Order: sequence, then C-alpha cells, then structure tokens
Amino acid sequence: ESTENRQLKQLHDDATKLYQHILMNTEMGQKALDYLHNRGMTDEDITTFQIGFAPEKSVLQDFFNEKKLDYQILRQSGLFIENQAGNLRERFINRVMFPIRNQNGQVVAFSGRLLEKNKDLPKYLNSPETPIFNKRDILFNYDLAKKEIRTEGNVILFEGFMDVIAAYRSGVKNGVASMGTSLTNEQIYLLERSTSQLNICYDGDDPGQNATNRALDLLTNQTKMKVGVLVIPNGMDPDEFVTKNGKEAFLELAHSARETTISFKMNFLKRDRNLKNESEQIDYIDQVLRVLATIKTPFEQDIYVNQLADEFKIDKTILRQQLVDLVANQP
Ligand code: ATP
Ligand code: MN
Ligand code: MN
Ligand code: MN
Repeated sequence: ESTENRQLKQLHDDATKLYQHILMNTEMGQKALDYLHNRGMTDEDITTFQIGFAPEKSVLQDFFNEKKLDYQILRQSGLFIENQAGNLRERFINRVMFPIRNQNGQVVAFSGRLLEKNKDLPKYLNSPETPIFNKRDILFNYDLAKKEIRTEGNVILFEGFMDVIAAYRSGVKNGVASMGTSLTNEQIYLLERSTSQLNICYDGDDPGQNATNRALDLLTNQTKMKVGVLVIPNGMDPDEFVTKNGKEAFLELAHSARETTISFKMNFLKRDRNLKNESEQIDYIDQVLRVLATIKTPFEQDIYVNQLADEFKIDKTILRQQLVDLVANQP
C-alpha cells in the first residue's frame, strides 16, 4: 500500500474520531445527538457505526493545521473544497457524519446528512472519489455484515444507511447499502463470494418499490444469486418500521415476509390497477403471463399458473396454452 493511501486513511480515522467526539461530548453536537436519539438511534449504534457531527465551525482544518499535514494529502482527501486561490475549506458543514468503511473496516469516505430540510442543499452529501474511495466497489456495512451474511445464508440490500443501522439494532445484521445508486457489477461480485441469496429491502413508498422493480430486472441477467424481496408495509422506510413497530416486528418481517421475484412482480403489477374493471383485469393477466414466460423451471411456472387460474377463475389449460404461445413468440 502506498504511503499516500496510508496517510489518507489515517486522516479519515482522525476525522472520524474528531467528529464523534464533537457529537458525543460537546455543546456543538447536542442538537445532532438529540436528532439521532429522536430517530431511535442508541448510543451503542452511534459507537458501532462511529457516527459523528461536522459542525458549523471548521474543526478539521484547525486540527490538521496543528498536525502540519501535507497540503496535497488534505487536498486529495475529499474532505475539503479548494477555491480558486488554492485555499481549502471544509466540505461537510452542519451534517451528521456517517463514516463509510471499506471491506477491512477502514474509514475511506463520509456521507453527511443535514439535520433539517433545506431546499438549496442536498439531504445527503458524499465524499467524492479519491485514491482510497471508489464508490463502485463499496457497500456500506459490508465489513461488519460479512460474517453474518455467511451464517444467515443471505444478504439484505437496503436503500439507506439509516435502514441498515435500524436493522442492525433489531438483530438483523446481514444488511448492506450501496452508495445511493443501483448495485454495480463490482458490488454484485463481492456479495456473490459470500452468499447465494440476495434480498432487496428498499423503501415501501412508490419510489422504493419502483426501484425494487428496476433492480430485479437488472439483477436477473447479472447474478447467479437467487433474488428475493422484503416488502415494508404502508409505504414506510425500514428505519421507520423499526421505530414504529419495534425490533421484534422487524426481525419477524426479515425472516418471514420474503417474496420471490415473481410474486413481487405480480403484486407490483396490481398497484394502480382496478382489477374489478374487466379490461384492466385482462391487461393484468396478460402482463403476468409475460412475467411467467420468463421462468425457466417448469414446476415453478406451474405454481404461478395455478395461482393465477384460481384467482381469476380461468381454465388452467387455456393459461398454459397462452404461455406456450408467448414463449414461442419471444424474440
Ligand atoms: P433519511 O431516513 O435520513 O431521510 P433515507 O436513507 O431514507 O434517509 P432516502 O431519501 O430514502 O434517504 O435516500 C436513500 C439513500 O439515497 C440515502 O441513504 C443516500 O445514500 C442516498 N441519497 C439520498 N439523497 C441523496 C442526495 N441528495 N445525494 C446523494 N445521495 C443521496
Ligand atoms: Mn425514499
Ligand atoms: Mn428514511
Ligand atoms: Mn429512505
């Protein structure tokens, strides 16, 4: 490992400790600490995930000036923004700081969250790419989750950091999140080395369910892993679900509410359709058959054909014939 990379990691380690000290032990951090407690986060969570606070005051600069750190290292760290005159100012101001750890548990970046809505600033701000932070390679919490993914035999993919942390608090410790984007090939490869089952647990709201549907389409061609879906009821985020219904309820949901790709798609197609309306019902059945046509295992296909036939009181042989025609006409 290069000296430069070692220095960058040291700098992130120092920043993590400083931000955490500010959150836990200073007046400047009080509001942020209250905010986190109000969202159900415990001091244990804060310690486990090394959460901190970047205040208004430029604390990093004072700290690193004292240490006489190399300007080039500071510049490359992504923790500062450089103006035209070549002066550095802090990138993260007034934000709750979530350290992003690599596979070895070393902090290589941050994501900072505003305490309050602000129409001019993004809710989350991430470190830019640096020599030690390649967004495509990193899954939030993979270092801690790795062992648990192996013992549980599956990984749960969440949308947000708060969701991973809330799940962890509930005892569901095999959760990870990507950096606010869809899964990359690098991340898929990383997960495939630890497990053969991936469960998607995105937000229960419309954007989250649409993202789930998109992820399923992408993943089927990209991974050998079996893919399942955990649906959070009532449009909630996993994090909200834990806060409202308790740890045990989430633990239960994580173990029981798994849908297959196909049953998710069938339910997803039901959204926004009034199945009492005949033409919408016909359209729904047609769309479902197109999904069923993609199933490669005959007995699995048969299970869903039977379900569909029972639900809409249609002759099974007719549905099967239609499937055969669909498959024959596939490009
Ligand atoms: P919270 O519960 O704190 O509001 P969240 O995780 O529910 O956060 P979402 O709005 O659902 O936030 O977004 C999901 C994830 O997408 C976030 O955890 C973050 O990784 C990413 N994200 C959201 N907004 C931004 C943004 N403005 N810039 C970069 N990434 C973002
Ligand atoms: Mn959301
Ligand atoms: Mn949320
Ligand atoms: Mn969310």
